[in-house]
Amino acid sequence: MIIPNVPQLNDAQLAEVTGIVGAFGCRIQPINGAVRSIYAIIGDERNDDMVTKLEGLPYVDRVDRIQSPHKLMDRRGSLATHEVKLGGITLGKELFVCAGPCTIDPKNPNLTIETAHAIKEAGAHALRGGVWKPRTNPYSYQGDAKALLILMEASRQTGLPVDTEVMDEEHLELALEAGVDCLQVGARNALNYSLLRQIGQAIAKRDTAVLLKRGMHMGPVQEFIAAAEYIVQLGNPNVVLCPRGTQPALDGYRNHPDESIVPLLKERTWAPVVVDPSHSVGKAAYVPAAALAAVAYGADGLCIECNVRPSQGIGDDPKQAVTPDALKAIIGQAKALWAIRRGHQKC
Ligand code: PEP
Ligand code: MN
Repeated sequence: MIIPNVPQLNDAQLAEVTGIVGAFGCRIQPINGAVRSIYAIIGDERNDDMVTKLEGLPYVDRVDRIQSPHKLMDRRGSLATHEVKLGGITLGKELFVCAGPCTIDPKNPNLTIETAHAIKEAGAHALRGGVWKPRTNPYSYQGDAKALLILMEASRQTGLPVDTEVMDEEHLELALEAGVDCLQVGARNALNYSLLRQIGQAIAKRDTAVLLKRGMHMGPVQEFIAAAEYIVQLGNPNVVLCPRGTQPALDGYRNHPDESIVPLLKERTWAPVVVDPSHSVGKAAYVPAAALAAVAYGADGLCIECNVRPSQGIGDDPKQAVTPDALKAIIGQAKALWAIRRGHQKC
């Protein structure tokens, strides 16, 4: 829909816009009002190049797209009824919880193994744990492929599916070879389109899921959904959106909590939303409230950093990992809130 900044396009202007959209297989249908006219684009109006050309015209105020640019991720698209299943849970049908250490310490395998058993006991459905870590400081611990063996051993012992972050093609190959169930794309790589495409290609013929974190710097909701479209357009629709707080931070928190984005995501896409309250607020004491807020906003699940002995953990655990007892309490309350919301939705 072309909205001009003049009451009506003159003949030359109408011919120009007709020529532009015609080159993209579309035509123009003027809608003449008493005071102003607008111009509907009939055809597939998703082409960014066409829209950019129209927006560059001096007499065009803006172009509003009626069709979503992310056709597969769209709530009304062909994947609208697709269900993502993880850890025996169909996301959206039951509250899903993924938990575990920020970082797997290759020198202390028991800490991860004990934590895996404890999060299962607390009611979690999947185990998270960083093998490779995107650290702001290049001198901080960067990860170690040996940790992958520990993660998979924890999975074997508990029967829990596992989620771990991959940052490049080598990580991706190793993780898939090891049998990782869910690949995490971190906040720093959320808009790394070549990585998203590599992941999409690598899992096109598998049922591996992807937990796509929201970019660290707040972008429009559309940008987040479009990043997921990069993956699903290659054939595997098992993508889960994960708001995790954005920058600039709210004073006192690690990031700006963004669980309030959930209803906006739900309005536009069918994809399940699993909120990460740990990286959002960045301190164990604040995590329970942030987790419940996410469920109140309609999240389908939570991804929470948890460690049996947070102070012995590496990465974020000493600051933001909750204990298994705290996790158990969060899960109990979150499930109760989930049931209230579900009841409310039926009214
Ligand atoms: C993590 O999950 O430990 C992590 C580094 O996440 P994010 O990419 O959201 O910072
Ligand atoms: Mn972390």
